Parts: sequence; structure tokens; C-alpha cells
Amino acid sequence: MIEIKQLTKLYKTKHQQVQAVDDISLNINKGEIFGVVGYSGAGKSTFIRLINRLEEPTSGTIKINDKDITTMAQSKLRKERQKFGMIFQHFNLLWSRTIYDNIAFPLEIAGVPKNKRKEKVLELINLVGLSGREKAYPSQLSGGQKQRVGIARALANDPDVLLCDEATSALDPETTDDILDLLVSINKKLGLTIILITHEMHVIQKICHRVAVMEKGKVVETGNVLEVFVKP
Ligand code: ADP
Ligand code: ADP
Repeated sequence: MIEIKQLTKLYKTKHQQVQAVDDISLNINKGEIFGVVGYSGAGKSTFIRLINRLEEPTSGTIKINDKDITTMAQSKLRKERQKFGMIFQHFNLLWSRTIYDNIAFPLEIAGVPKNKRKEKVLELINLVGLSGREKAYPSQLSGGQKQRVGIARALANDPDVLLCDEATSALDPETTDDILDLLVSINKKLGLTIILITHEMHVIQKICHRVAVMEKGKVVETGNVLEVFVKP
């Protein structure tokens, strides 16, 4: 479903250049939970941001369902981006808006009419287990609840792929497990493809079907989680 070929990102600054992503080729299947693990600075964040073109690649191609998004014009890209939802380490919620409005926001941008919006928001709030908290503000929620709002917002426009950028790194172990369980249930229920990046091995081991290990911009190993982590 996602076909990445010879993907490269070179950051050039005045004094130096950094090969943040260095010749990565891999395929991610529909419905799969795919993890990318590596130390800080390995290039994970750049890699995941290239997938929905929040970063422009220096070279290489990314095909989603056989459509090359690397050469796509900005006008077309907007529609293509709706196929991706994204969640973040620090949730990136709108602090002055209620839970309801945070989740409704992407629907508003997509031009969904008000009554349809309401139906969808309530369905999403129920899906992430926050029914009754519609009127609360993010500051009134725990970290795990904030991430549930992040997940609901990411799913608003029915994406095919959920991108998770260190989505549990700011959470305690117990809350991390709750959020990972929620991601697994959404993966099963909606058949959603999930790509996550993390520096935490146990996150990969708990939910990923396959994993790529990144070091200095390169993928040094890929395989199913047992192959990569349990060596004889
Ligand atoms: P990770 O997510 O694994 O911590 P990043 O993708 O954030 O790795 O960073 C990979 C490398 O690219 C690092 O050396 C980082 O300093 C560099 N880098 C990331 N973003 C930029 C940027 N906007 N400009 C210049 N260098 C960057
Ligand atoms: P978290 O508190 O969830 O870890 P951050 O502290 O990283 O998230 O904040 C994310 C963004 O939201 C930052 O740009 C920050 O300035 C802003 N922010 C955080 N708290 C508030 C608040 N109470 N009111 C307005 N903006 C806020």
C-alpha cells in the first residue's frame, strides 16, 4: 500500500549538512502496524514527516496505493493528505477549545456540514472512550485523555493511515499501555494502517507486526518483531 523507494532527506544549513534520511526503501502493507525504532537523532521524525510530505524529500519516491505523492502538486496533495491522520508526543491540541471543538476542527476545515460533524464527533468521542467529556478543555484532562483526543481528531476524516510520532513518550507506563491497547483495537476495528516511530523498544514489542531499525538515517534492519528482537 505504501511503497518507499530510495528516500533521502538532506538538511543543509550554512555550516553543515545532515543526511537525516539516507536511501530508505521499504513497503508497508494495508492494515499493518509498522514500527520504526531508533535512538534520538536517527532520523525517525524526519522519515515519518516525509510520508505525508510535511517535509519535502531531497530524492526518492513515496507511492500510496500506486500514486506517487512526491511529485504531486500542492493542490492535489491537500486531498491526498486527508488519507493520513497524525498524533504527536505533546498532543498538539488547541488549548482554548473544548474537546468537542478540537475533534470537530479537521471536519470544519474539510467543509463537513454541521449536523454531520456532530454525528462524527460524538462517534469518535465514544470510540476513544471520552463520552461525557465533550465540554472539557485539554488542560482539564490527563495526558492519556489528551492523547485520546489527539487520536479522535486524527481519525476525523477517515484516514487510511495513522502516523504516530512518539505518541506515548510523554505518558507513564500504565497510560502508555492503555493508549497502545486503543491503537490495536482501532487497527482491528477500522482496518487502519498504523505507522509509529518511537525510541521505546517495548512499544514496538507490544503492538507492532513489523519493525524497521534506524541508525544515522539508514534502515539497518527490518523484519517481523520476533525476528528482529529475539536472536538465537
Ligand atoms: P529522530 O526523530 O530519530 O530523533 P530527526 O529526524 O529528528 O531524528 O533528526 C535526524 C537528524 O536530522 C538529526 O541530526 C537532526 O539534528 C537533523 N535535523 C532534523 N530536523 C532538522 C532541520 N529542520 N534542519 C537541520 N537539521 C535537522
Ligand atoms: P503538553 O503540555 O501537552 O506536553 P506542550 O507543553 O508541548 O504540550 O504544549 C504544546 C503547545 O501548546 C505549545 O505550543 C504550548 O505553548 C501550547 N500550550 C500549552 N499549554 C497551553 C495553555 N494552557 N494555553 C495555551 N497554550 C498552551
